[in-house]
Amino acid sequence: MKPNVVVIGAGIVGLGMARALSIKGASVTVIERNSYAIGASIRNFGMVWPIGQPDGPLYERAMLTRSIWKELCLEAGIWNDPKGSLHLAYSELEMNVLDQFHSSVQGPRKCTLLDSSSALRLSSAIVSNGLRGALYSPDEMILDSPKAIKTLPNYLEEKYGVKFLWNSHVNHVETGKVHIGQLEMSFDEIYICNGPDFENLFPEEYINLPITKCKLQMMRMGVQPENWRLGPSLCGGLSLTHYASFKSAGESLEPLKKFIQQEMPEYVKWGIHVMVSQNSSGELIIGDSHEYGLTHDPFDKEFINQYILAYLKKFARFQNEHITHTWNGTYTKMTDGSTELILHPLPGVTVVNGLGGAGMTMALGLTHQLVLG
Ligand SMILES: Cc1cc2nc3c(=O)[nH]c(=O)nc-3n(C[C@H](O)[C@H](O)[C@H](O)COP(=O)(O)OP(=O)(O)OC[C@H]3O[C@@H](n4cnc5c(N)ncnc54)[C@H](O)[C@@H]3O)c2cc1C
Repeated sequence: MKPNVVVIGAGIVGLGMARALSIKGASVTVIERNSYAIGASIRNFGMVWPIGQPDGPLYERAMLTRSIWKELCLEAGIWNDPKGSLHLAYSELEMNVLDQFHSSVQGPRKCTLLDSSSALRLSSAIVSNGLRGALYSPDEMILDSPKAIKTLPNYLEEKYGVKFLWNSHVNHVETGKVHIGQLEMSFDEIYICNGPDFENLFPEEYINLPITKCKLQMMRMGVQPENWRLGPSLCGGLSLTHYASFKSAGESLEPLKKFIQQEMPEYVKWGIHVMVSQNSSGELIIGDSHEYGLTHDPFDKEFINQYILAYLKKFARFQNEHITHTWNGTYTKMTDGSTELILHPLPGVTVVNGLGGAGMTMALGLTHQLVLG
């Protein structure tokens, strides 16, 4: 008899759990409180971003996630763009970090240091003035998150018989039982993947945990003329101080951080680093900022968007720079450096959460490893 399991939450973590548990042979039900997932998993850049993960198990998990995404895209007809990433350097300090990072890279990661003219050949959006060079990585791929996250439930339903209960808020969980208001359902195992609304189940568990929420502001620029494509996703020097992987650039990182702190304190204060990717319709996804805390102002700060756009102009220009959408998203983040939260509040109940700003890059690999080893 197949174990009867339930996953609460249809974001990428819940969908990853549903996939892995189905492969293991369970009969899976996913319960989502909205009529489709509208959380962090559809509000992101869609970047599957191994370059942000340090060498070793985290990079390997990112690459496992990438390979699972590739398989899902192929089987479910999900659009993806595997064009890699370019980190652009406009100062000696930034170039030093790229240089040191490139020399520190070990194992299977394949990055190339490019001079300015080689970098410019990869994307006509790049600002040439002052460009010193760039780091190209082939690992990164882009998904159109709102479309991908909407397609996956149909795929899981068709391929594995996963059942989805939409518009169903789980308000209580005990061993073997899930409550949706007055409705009680029984399951052999329960997995809670409720993202930034973590405290709506087992609130007492979270009081002493090193966990917070991060609010990010994002923007979308209109479709570019004549089906123009960006090429690799682009980032500027601020991103070198954002991702853990660049710590392997060692001593070269500190002078860059110091310079940014002195010259751009507002960017540090609001956690701004700037990246741009392009979705399946040709729109450009631009962000982001990072504000940490358990409660967030629901309104966006216009000045943060202006800071992001001002920095973007330093390294990329587009024919159509009209902003069509602005929004914010929130993810759960561990404050002690952990890369995820796995919790067992009761026998047979498991919480999987806390993937921070890397859920699109890590969730499918993490859930695969948790369930299938
Ligand atoms: C703006 C932004 C940009 C980002 N960019 C990237 C990126 O480019 N690359 C990358 O790798 N990562 C990125 N991330 C991070 C990534 O999006 C998150 O790590 C990931 O989406 C988290 O997935 P999740 O399933 O935990 O949460 P969510 O997607 O928020 O899903 C949780 C789901 O649980 C449901 N739920 C909650 N409580 C209940 C309940 N009681 N009953 C039923 N359902 C419930 C919610 O409705 C929701 O659908 C970004 C995040 C944001 C916000």
